[in-house]
Amino acid sequence: MSKWPIGVFASVDDGLGVHLDVVQELGIPTLHLHCPSPENRTEDAAKAFVSRAAEIGTEASCVFSGFAGETYESIQRTAETVGLVPESLRDERCALFRTTSDFAKWIGCDVVALHIGFVPDPSTDSYKDLIAKTQSLLDYVKDNGQNLHLETGQESADHLLHFIGDVDRDNLFINFDPANMILYGTGDPIEALKKVGHLVRSIHCKDATWAAEDVRGTGWGAEVPLGEGDVGMETYLRTLKELGYEGPLTIEREIAHDRERQKADIGAAVALLTELREKIG
Ligand code: MG
Repeated sequence: MSKWPIGVFASVDDGLGVHLDVVQELGIPTLHLHCPSPENRTEDAAKAFVSRAAEIGTEASCVFSGFAGETYESIQRTAETVGLVPESLRDERCALFRTTSDFAKWIGCDVVALHIGFVPDPSTDSYKDLIAKTQSLLDYVKDNGQNLHLETGQESADHLLHFIGDVDRDNLFINFDPANMILYGTGDPIEALKKVGHLVRSIHCKDATWAAEDVRGTGWGAEVPLGEGDVGMETYLRTLKELGYEGPLTIEREIAHDRERQKADIGAAVALLTELREKIG
């Protein structure tokens, strides 16, 4: 695959991202696929996806996990509900994550990704348990011939690096989402990218504006169309180039309540990234 192919976050059922008809309409060659709901993680569904993807000229470079009951309605609710962090759900979700990894294997994809959630303080028992369970997942994923990418944003770059160091597995990397750093107020995305760049193996192209100073870290920033936020897309791509990143530029635009606008914004994002890719080279 050539350097910096354009991608988009997509799903086959009610997951995040756009539906495959939009991928087809916009002619987008690579996907981050939000994993189908658990009842659709079958070998037959995997075959159906592969043939549909081939028909429209695209392929998944990464399969993203998601769990029923996750909500992003506020930062507080996100901390309580997302990923492997909620302790009462941890075992059940680890089991579900294994089915995501299996589905990815069936479609021939060697990367799975995860919002692990708000990683607890390293001095807690919850943190130690999370480390052990993440290690076990990584061993499972490795047996499936895959790497795991953790999505950024819910912790600072330093906290994430500390966690990855403690997990200590050679198939754990980062999916960098610059807008999340702004949305959650966890740090300047370009500075963070430079810090974690050696582990970045996939990225999202998403944009956002900071929350007001007095609520930063407790209140959401705002997700906006690519190029209209505070990330600075040209600086972002130049930084990725300096780091030697050559993988897909995967657009994410989470406005499922307005599918028409979502499609238009993604079309504009494709144009912007194509122009910047040409300029930066
Ligand atoms: Mg993202």
